[in-house]
Amino acid sequence: MQRITVAKGDGIGPEIMDATLAIIKAAGAQIEIDEIEVGEKVYLAGNTSGISRESWDTIRKNKVFLKAPITTPQGGGYKSLNVTTRKFLGLYANIRPCASLHPFVKTKHPLMDIVIVRENEEDLYAGIEHQQTDEVVQCLKLISRPGCEKIVRYAFEYAKQYGRKKVTCFTKDNIMKQTDGLFHEVFNEIAVEYPDIENEHWIIDIGAAKMADTPEAFDVIVMPNLYGDVLSDVAAQIAGSVGLAGSANIGEECAMFEAIHGSAPRRAGQNMANPSGLLQGAIQMLTHIGQVKVAEKVQNAWLKTIEDGIHTYDIYKEGVSTQKVGTKEFAEAVISNLGQSPTQLKAVHYSDEKTLNLPKYQRKAPKKKDLVGVDLFVHWAGTDVEHFASLVKQIELPGVKLSMITNRGIKVYPDGFPETFCTDHWRCRFKPTDGEILSKAQIIQLLQHAEEKGIDAVKTENLYHFDGKAAYSLGQGQ
Ligand code: NAD
Repeated sequence: MQRITVAKGDGIGPEIMDATLAIIKAAGAQIEIDEIEVGEKVYLAGNTSGISRESWDTIRKNKVFLKAPITTPQGGGYKSLNVTTRKFLGLYANIRPCASLHPFVKTKHPLMDIVIVRENEEDLYAGIEHQQTDEVVQCLKLISRPGCEKIVRYAFEYAKQYGRKKVTCFTKDNIMKQTDGLFHEVFNEIAVEYPDIENEHWIIDIGAAKMADTPEAFDVIVMPNLYGDVLSDVAAQIAGSVGLAGSANIGEECAMFEAIHGSAPRRAGQNMANPSGLLQGAIQMLTHIGQVKVAEKVQNAWLKTIEDGIHTYDIYKEGVSTQKVGTKEFAEAVISNLGQSPTQLKAVHYSDEKTLNLPKYQRKAPKKKDLVGVDLFVHWAGTDVEHFASLVKQIELPGVKLSMITNRGIKVYPDGFPETFCTDHWRCRFKPTDGEILSKAQIIQLLQHAEEKGIDAVKTENLYHFDGKAAYSLGQGQ
């Protein structure tokens, strides 16, 4: 018996949750429920996070959270409960299966059956942003080795458990050699441990185009946060079934399961809403807690119901559907199909293996780290690059010289092109002339000189070699 936390949410939430729970209980799910209140009422009672301290305690105690959609009230100041939950509970993996239900739900991609595995905690979503000059703001893209290892391993373990044949990685490592480069590198390392599962890497732009055009070429796709955010919506949409998709948010300790759609307030209380999205989330929950055969039974009964043409209003189509039903009646139809399998849609068979093999991250031995230079970022509103270089050269130290200046990453000194458009944000790279090691004291001296000469240094980035290998980007054109 597994204790789970349930939030019925707002709008259509309570109806689709009741339907979902009725189905999984009828299928034999061994669950006990602690219900909590989250969402609109809690927000409007003055709690800007939409959830109380006691509810957090319940979620953390039970570790498994099935959540119906909630309404985030209009107006500023209310924090998204989804984002807060992911971050607080370290839910690093977002898993969204996107399969078409052709010919029962309209789609241009009848053979599509993919699962997007999205890293959920880092990348540009770390939320570290700064304005540095009048013209330039920045957002730090942080990619960590544990973050990469955890998500990539999850993708392969998921593929293994669900009998999937291939894991594809999407990155843009031809441009972002450090960040996306690390993600790709870790993907290659971990792929080797799964010789029975095919693996491949695509550059995200052409990969995304291929996925939107020929999704049947893919199986499981793993990617960093931002790409996954965008492409998981594309995938759900082109499967033809945004309203039918569920998603799992998995952490080392806790997990949250939900539908991908919102609370559809205009449909609330009318017994109209389709409970399928939340049911898909609940099926993911059942496999997560090891009740794999119950999950399989529910999924096959659900597929059979869709195939029988028993449809809620949102997917009802004259000529394809046989019966337009409400939320409750749909749930009853699924319950009456428990034990049956679809005949036209592909029935599912989930592996009996109870849990995924997700070892704790093991920190590797530190590499030899040498400071070999520094990038000093300067706010300067002029346009004459040669003049700017002469100003910056005033702060050089004996044996530490200006080696280049870039503007938005493009080298403008030495040997820049007058055509290059420049903003007021300049990266000035200083390196020891003898190719030796720089000291932190020298960086402080550079900053001191900059201050004395009226040069507006907005930040520094240290340039390192790790085990003798340069671990920073060159200037474009360098
Ligand atoms: P929505 O997903 O609630 O609704 C979009 C459209 O899809 C509506 O026309 C609705 O009628 C239809 N629809 C959605 N789910 C359906 C279902 N199960 N059955 C039948 N039809 C369905 O998106 P929205 O209108 O932009 O947002 C409404 C509220 O939901 C907002 O307050 C938003 O903040 C919130 N929201 C919550 C979540 C979440 O809790 N995870 C996610 C998205 C939006």
